[in-house]
Amino acid sequence: MSAAAPEFDYVKPTGVAELVEGLRAAGGEGAVLAGGTDLHVKMRIGKLAPRVLFDISELDACRSIAERGEVLAIGAAVRMSEIIASPLVARRVPALADAARQMSCRQIRNRATLGGNIVTASPAADAVPPLLAADAALLLAGPAGQRELPLADFLLGPGKTALERGEVLTEILVPMQPAGCRSGFVKVGRRKAQAISIINLCGSLSLDEAGAISDLRLVLGSVGPTAMRARRCEQALQGVAPKKESLAAAAALAAEECRPITDLRGSAEGRRLLVEAWTLRLLTNLCVKGRVHV
Ligand SMILES: Cc1cc2nc3c(=O)[nH]c(=O)nc-3n(C[C@H](O)[C@H](O)[C@H](O)COP(=O)(O)OP(=O)(O)OC[C@H]3O[C@@H](n4cnc5c(N)ncnc54)[C@H](O)[C@@H]3O)c2cc1C
Repeated sequence: MSAAAPEFDYVKPTGVAELVEGLRAAGGEGAVLAGGTDLHVKMRIGKLAPRVLFDISELDACRSIAERGEVLAIGAAVRMSEIIASPLVARRVPALADAARQMSCRQIRNRATLGGNIVTASPAADAVPPLLAADAALLLAGPAGQRELPLADFLLGPGKTALERGEVLTEILVPMQPAGCRSGFVKVGRRKAQAISIINLCGSLSLDEAGAISDLRLVLGSVGPTAMRARRCEQALQGVAPKKESLAAAAALAAEECRPITDLRGSAEGRRLLVEAWTLRLLTNLCVKGRVHV
């Protein structure tokens, strides 16, 4: 016999103020429903049982992709398929489109939102490394008003974020990337489609006039409680003209500094090997070819 379907009230707010007020009135028993690809699964298995669902999938304030001065503002309810199709994302933060393209299948990409991917706080979330590499910040709205928080400070651990009760993520703010910045995203899973990443990584770098690496960011996912910057690797290559030996040594540092665990998808040691191999390949491609599509 199958378990009884969960019961809940369904509300479709027309603005952020109404949403925040609704969440306040629900007193901790409300949940934001975006694409539902994660929430519905958790409700079905009884992991979450919200009393009220607040559907933001068509909330105007969370649905646009727009340039606002130097910043690219992406609404939290923008779907992965819309990230892929956006000329602004392709121009301003192409590695994010690469990541969205490699997520799951078309059906999931047509529902899953960028905000949902972030708030779920999975260490394997594919959209997070490109956003961390781009130094993205989040716009949060709640009972105390609006606040901006760097994405790096928002993610606290698996399933844990700095979102306070009654708060909602409304926009993701991506600053202008340095001129000539090259970036790429790699997802390593058991198969091409419908696989959660064993590891994922995003690199972005610029080369100065002398051909030396400047402003390198390397973010590793699924090898720690949250996606992480590989700072020792980044520092080792800062100002260095890329050579086979220096890139290989930096990739080895990335493997050393990540903190993988063994789980269903892979062993800690296997993940370190993947980090070293794919970091070397990604950085080499970025230095030699520019943009990377894997
Ligand atoms: C078959 C399958 C394959 C998948 N493959 C991948 C994959 O390849 N890569 C990957 O990264 N993920 C994958 N996922 C996970 C999931 O699809 C993504 O994390 C997705 O982006 C979640 O977005 P959503 O809009 O569906 O979130 P929802 O399910 O609507 O919400 C997820 C959680 O975030 C909260 N939330 C959502 N939006 C907001 C907001 N704006 N403010 C506050 N709280 C919010 C919800 O209350 C809920 O707790 C997969 C899931 C499934 C079922």
